[in-house]
Amino acid sequence: MSACLLGVDCKYNGENNLNSKVLELLSKETLIPVCPEQLGGCPTPRVPSEIVDGDGADVLDGKARVMTKNGEDVTEYFIRGAREVLKIAQSMGIEKAIMKARSPSCGFCSIYDGTFSGKTKSGNGVTTEILKRNGISVLTEEDV
Ligand code: SF4
Repeated sequence: MSACLLGVDCKYNGENNLNSKVLELLSKETLIPVCPEQLGGCPTPRVPSEIVDGDGADVLDGKARVMTKNGEDVTEYFIRGAREVLKIAQSMGIEKAIMKARSPSCGFCSIYDGTFSGKTKSGNGVTTEILKRNGISVLTEEDV
C-alpha cells in the first residue's frame, strides 16, 4: 500500500494523500504502508519528480529517466526504492498492492507526463512496474 494513502506524510511536499475508502479497508485487511521514494533515499519534503520520455517500464529497462522539476536526475533513487518495495512484498508473501494513482513511482496505467503540468500519459510508475513484473496485482485508490 502506498503509505501516503494511509496518512503518512511522505508526499513530496511533506503532506499525505489520506483516503477514507482505503482507511476503511484497515478493518478487514492487513495493510503494509511503504513509500518507495523514501525507501530509495529521497528526502521529505523533496522537489517533485516525473518520468521523462517514457514510463516505469522504460526506466527499469534503462530507456527513460526520472527527473526533478529542477532538472536533477533521480532515476537511481526511484529504482532503488522500487527494489526495496519488491523485497518487502516478496518477504511477506504479498499478492496485491494498492498504489497511488498517477505517481511516477506508484501510478498504475496512467502517470504524469513529464511536463509538470498535471497532464498524464499511459504507463506505470517505476515501483508498480517492478511489482507487476513479479506477479503482484496492482490497483489504485480509485479502484477501491
Ligand atoms: Fe505516496 Fe508513492 Fe509518492 Fe510515496 S512515492 S508519496 S507512497 S505516491
